[in-house]
Amino acid sequence: MADWDDEWQEDQVVVTPAPRPPQNTRVYRPNPGGSRDNRGYSDRSNWRETRGNDNRSTNWRDQSDRNNPGFRNQGSRDQGFRDQGFRDQGSRDQGFRDQGFRNRRNIPEGNKKTITVPSHKVGRIIGKGGSKIRDLEYESEAKIQIGDSNGALTNITLLGEDASIAKVEDMINSLLEDYKPAVPKVNSCTADNNTSDDFFKSNEAGVEVIDWDKLNAHYEEQQKIRYEQLPPIIKDFYKEDPQVAAMSPKEVKHWRLTNNDIQVKRTFDDKPGLKPIPNPVVTFDQAFQHFPEILEEIRKQGFERPSPIQSQAWPILLRGEDMIGIAQTGTGKTLAFLLPALIHIDGQTVPRDQRDGPTVLILAPTRELALQIEKEVSKYKYKNIKSVCLYGGGDRKEQIKVVAKGVDIVIATPGRLNDLIVTGHLNIINFSYIVLDEADRMLDMGFEPQIRKSLFDVRPDKQVVMTSATWPNGVRRLAESYMKDPIQVNVGSLDLAAVHTVTQQISFVDEDDKEEALYEFIRNMESSDKVIIFCGKKATATHITTELAMRGIEAQSLHGDRDQSDREAALSEMVEGTVNILVATDVASRGIDIKDLTHVVNLDFPRHIEEYVHRVGRTGRAGRTGVSLSFISRKDWGHARELIKILEEANQEVPDELQQMAERFEAMKLRRDKEGGGNRGRGGRGGRGGGRDRGDRFMF
Ligand code: AMP
Repeated sequence: MADWDDEWQEDQVVVTPAPRPPQNTRVYRPNPGGSRDNRGYSDRSNWRETRGNDNRSTNWRDQSDRNNPGFRNQGSRDQGFRDQGFRDQGSRDQGFRDQGFRNRRNIPEGNKKTITVPSHKVGRIIGKGGSKIRDLEYESEAKIQIGDSNGALTNITLLGEDASIAKVEDMINSLLEDYKPAVPKVNSCTADNNTSDDFFKSNEAGVEVIDWDKLNAHYEEQQKIRYEQLPPIIKDFYKEDPQVAAMSPKEVKHWRLTNNDIQVKRTFDDKPGLKPIPNPVVTFDQAFQHFPEILEEIRKQGFERPSPIQSQAWPILLRGEDMIGIAQTGTGKTLAFLLPALIHIDGQTVPRDQRDGPTVLILAPTRELALQIEKEVSKYKYKNIKSVCLYGGGDRKEQIKVVAKGVDIVIATPGRLNDLIVTGHLNIINFSYIVLDEADRMLDMGFEPQIRKSLFDVRPDKQVVMTSATWPNGVRRLAESYMKDPIQVNVGSLDLAAVHTVTQQISFVDEDDKEEALYEFIRNMESSDKVIIFCGKKATATHITTELAMRGIEAQSLHGDRDQSDREAALSEMVEGTVNILVATDVASRGIDIKDLTHVVNLDFPRHIEEYVHRVGRTGRAGRTGVSLSFISRKDWGHARELIKILEEANQEVPDELQQMAERFEAMKLRRDKEGGGNRGRGGRGGRGGGRDRGDRFMF
């Protein structure tokens, strides 16, 4: 449930600025598309209609609410101002209480039932940005009203037909259940005469307890029987081209060195009996000559040659081996795992229309990345292979419909995938090619439980591909759990290639002056410039977007509080160039490909230096140059040394002030160590929060 938990917690600390009238009406760039009032882009429309008018209820959503008078109430203002930073922040669900069913389906009310739920679980019902409550309503055709709370408990009113109320109540109850490991199901195909009583035993005190050893052994046995009934997975489709086979070890070494210094090895023990790591393919023909339709699809894209990761990954994956690609977006990693996946789907013994479920699963951390993968998948037509993208915030019912019709590839974010598996809409028994894309990021976002839960029942002989920009312990653990003798392909340990094409500027400012410095930067932008402004918190992003709007400067925002459609609209406006300022949180730091982005501004320095590399790498792409500007204040001094390393590595100027900052930070740490300041916890010298990211507590 990290999905909503994170949002919930972040919302608790939102500080909302009071709305201010516009200070001037300068529009940064004329709107080339003319009036967009009908286009439904909430940020801009809100802004236009509220400009110079402090009456919050006059926004476009109110206009549409006129069609829906039954549900219009004063809460409309919340929705309209959600992205502008005007939302009342009494509590996260307040907005949902107020707004009732605005923007949700107009369902006849019928009967009414009030249930009581623990207040701390209400977030599960609401979901990120209201996505869950919308799904529940859609699926059940009942309405849900979040009512009053007495602290511990909150009233929830369910309205609709009796059957709808019963359905939604069931759905809510299952949402509120805390996750417990599933009791193994008895396979109906096997003669299993056990009853649940067989898995209890009396302990020393004579109390009946679960006999875990027996239960686990039974489960293993049942799974074994279940998997034995499945058709074998065909994995090896590779016929090495004679020219590739003839490459000498010296040639291979030289090729790897001159292609992003690719390094390839068995991640874990190189056991005897394992095949040697295959040589890279240098042309598309060498990889796919036996699959002319695939070659034709590549030809249509107009690519000249395989990217380094593709050259090395295709022989490994076509041979059916598990692979870990340490590579970032922009390296061609999607195609590296996608083309072998297409061949894998077509190459299985059971015809596609007779399989019990999809064959390929691609898990991605964010909706944006999932949609980007889907877009890439849709470019390659092969044997009428069908895919679906399952992500929270998207139309759940529609996604279920597509799955039910039959698909071969599922691209999913972990939360929604888990949801559809648990509710029985997705059969995972046939997944035989699994991709965990940007695994490090999925773990950072707290998705490990969902990943583990989703993959729990997937057959063990599957082929697994994992991509990750970094190689932390968590990713290693995931690899150990799900992969068999994986081959690891590193495209540079931290791919700084993009950062080399970016001029990285540092500006030292007081925390309080950062915002003004940002507006000064924006005032000096050229009209052809395109910038992403990165903020540390969603609330800051919202605030900056609002301030820009107040100043008559058009900007879009991208962060986890925005509806999916708004996020997609924001991104496509940036890509198309109808807006040239995007204010974002780290949702946009990886994976987002805006080719002509000229500037990246780090209003808040990121919490981890890896994130700095990702952010800066949003510009200077596809052979272009770019500029990054990072505002550094005293509280960032803990990052100074790491930043110096990155700047030096990319032959950038290192400001003296940054050097001094790093030295002061190190001197402070030394002093603390000498003073025995190891205890940074509560009561220790560091006091509350005396950790790595709280450098602002120390003056220098
Ligand atoms: P990815 O790293 O998968 O996000 O890919 C980044 C971009 O590179 C996508 O727009 C791909 O279409 C493109 N791409 C993938 N493979 C190649 C290639 N071999 N040559 C040129 N561009 C490619």
